[in-house]
Amino acid sequence: MEILDEIKSVAKIIKQTDNIELYSQILDIQGCIMELLQQNNDLRAQVDELQTKLKTKEKLVFLNNAYWIENSDQKDGPFCSNCWDTKQIMVRLLERHKGIYSCPNCKNDVRSEFMDMDLGPLTINNLW
Ligand SMILES: [Zn+2]
Repeated sequence: MEILDEIKSVAKIIKQTDNIELYSQILDIQGCIMELLQQNNDLRAQVDELQTKLKTKEKLVFLNNAYWIENSDQKDGPFCSNCWDTKQIMVRLLERHKGIYSCPNCKNDVRSEFMDMDLGPLTINNLW
């Protein structure tokens, strides 16, 4: 907030000159700067969110009707493909019945035999 401190300092000096028009202008500029700083913070938050989603997408593997996240020698999942494909949110599927998994968010059911199998870490070789 360095620039805001500078503007406040200038506004304080202008106020001492009793130039109401100039003081009003510096207050307007101060308001614009505050708005720009807020927009900058919002954009930074959006960039962070998009970077997180991009990193997630790079690790996603679609396998037997669900997404899995690959981390070196581990796999995490299954995650709902509908929620990721439509809203880019990762929602863990929960086993409702043997071989039937359900998304607690969108309520989609997924039949997956693979989830009952212990294939160890996901690799390209054991996807087929
Ligand atoms: Zn879902």
